[in-house]
Amino acid sequence: MKHFDIIIVGGGPAGLTAAVYARRAGKTVLVLERDTIGGQIASSPKVDNFPGIQSISGMELSEQLYTQAENLGADIEVEEVLEIRDGATKSVRTDYGAYTCAAVILATGMTHRSLGLPEEDTLAGISYCAVCDGAFYRGKDVAVCGGGNTAVQEAIYLSDLCRHVTLIHRRNTLRADAVLVDAVRRLPNVTLLLDTVISSLVGDEALNGLVVKNALTGAISRVDVSGLFLAVGQKPEGRLAQMLGIADETGFIPTGEGCKTSVPGIFAAGDCRAKEVRQLITACSDGAIAALAACQYCS
Ligand code: NAP
Repeated sequence: MKHFDIIIVGGGPAGLTAAVYARRAGKTVLVLERDTIGGQIASSPKVDNFPGIQSISGMELSEQLYTQAENLGADIEVEEVLEIRDGATKSVRTDYGAYTCAAVILATGMTHRSLGLPEEDTLAGISYCAVCDGAFYRGKDVAVCGGGNTAVQEAIYLSDLCRHVTLIHRRNTLRADAVLVDAVRRLPNVTLLLDTVISSLVGDEALNGLVVKNALTGAISRVDVSGLFLAVGQKPEGRLAQMLGIADETGFIPTGEGCKTSVPGIFAAGDCRAKEVRQLITACSDGAIAALAACQYCS
């Protein structure tokens, strides 16, 4: 069984930053990512709040982080971690193989929240990623649901491709950053439908409309769209943390100084950690902190 000093679970900004720091400290490192290298930031149309970088696409930033970690000698594999066993030497089993290590950094991020409507998972035309799927709706009418930074960024991105974008939010005010709210409000082909919830999805195999309800008046109406982009937040990817007994009741991982969890040698970094601010820069910051603590643990 191949042994590493540090195994990092998750290849998003937190995990890849941890890999960069751990490799620079001379540790052997394996990064295991089950899906997309770069994590959620890879699907972000534009990142313009990372210090020193005016503007970059999430995909390009992910590629650069990946290349940086790989050039430093990190092993990066697309494998899903199924089980982590604690001990003086820890073992990590994936869908492909098994490894041992001295320390584990969990950087497992979060997954998309859904609305819980019937047919949300089966109807064609529902997406969680404008960068990935927006081109399918070129020249068409679409809706985005949510009021956070992701929703507003998706609406802005889609406004370039689509004929019309309806941004549907359940409250009267968007919680996205003011700079994004100002930008979306200025777009002529974006309509804000506030105080509005989606009651049902209309369509046989593919979506062709939404039934929406005004949360204040109860009035029901229909919005004709061929695509719906859901951006209603995320929930922690807590399965491994729960298995290890280090998650709180919400699925996030409480940590102390050095991103240490309650299990010695297991660290948590990025959005999966219980914390207030979940931003790209705080994910990278966690990655660096966890890596340095993990290096110290296994030296
Ligand atoms: P978020 O900030 O949690 O926003 C989720 C939105 O979905 C909220 O407006 C919420 O409404 C709404 N929502 C939740 N459940 C819903 C439901 N069942 N039905 C209808 N609406 C629902 O999520 P996010 O936008 O994905 O952002 C996640 C984190 O990443 C945030 O910290 C954000 O700042 C960060 N981020 C930053 C950037 C950036 O460029 N700075 C870009 C993307 C994401 P309420 O407002 O009513 O709760």
